[in-house]
Amino acid sequence: MKVAIVSSASFQKINFAKLIPDNTTGIFSAVPAHLMESIVQYADVNRICCESRDLENSADKAREIERFCKECDHMIILWDGRPDIAKEVMEYAEKIKKPVSFFELDSLLYTEQLDDFGRLTLPAAIRQRLDYPQAFSVQADGSRMILRPVGHQCVFCEKGEPLRHMVLHQKSICICESCLGAIREISPNV
Ligand SMILES: [Zn+2]
Repeated sequence: MKVAIVSSASFQKINFAKLIPDNTTGIFSAVPAHLMESIVQYADVNRICCESRDLENSADKAREIERFCKECDHMIILWDGRPDIAKEVMEYAEKIKKPVSFFELDSLLYTEQLDDFGRLTLPAAIRQRLDYPQAFSVQADGSRMILRPVGHQCVFCEKGEPLRHMVLHQKSICICESCLGAIREISPNV
């Protein structure tokens, strides 16, 4: 089995011996230089032919990605959630329905900078894992800030069904029947 490996640059140290399937007979890799050593070592020990590709800087990137995905039987994709070569390869692999082992950077390792307006960009990998929520509740908890996707749970008690969507202070929120009942007891106009 021929395996193609692509990785985002954020992954610092990967033990590819654990990721590459045992029945691998050839490896094409498009990973940053600092990750290459682990793959070369695996290939040496197992006497597998290993070929490195520079997809990022190739003259015809789209065609190289196509070739990269089509030549292999299985792909290993390590993606950090940002727009990069790993994402482009992943999108093409999905399109041609290539079998993929997909690994994301642990969400704990993300460091994001607030912009001048206090805005934060949530990495795509996190949004994808949470099923692309459109809204979050924000809670200050001691020195931590807790972001919770809003939409599948009540904003007050965080429980699920049955939920009602309503607009409060021009914001769309989800609220469960029991919390709505409790609020209406205090304020019947809600
Ligand atoms: Zn509730």
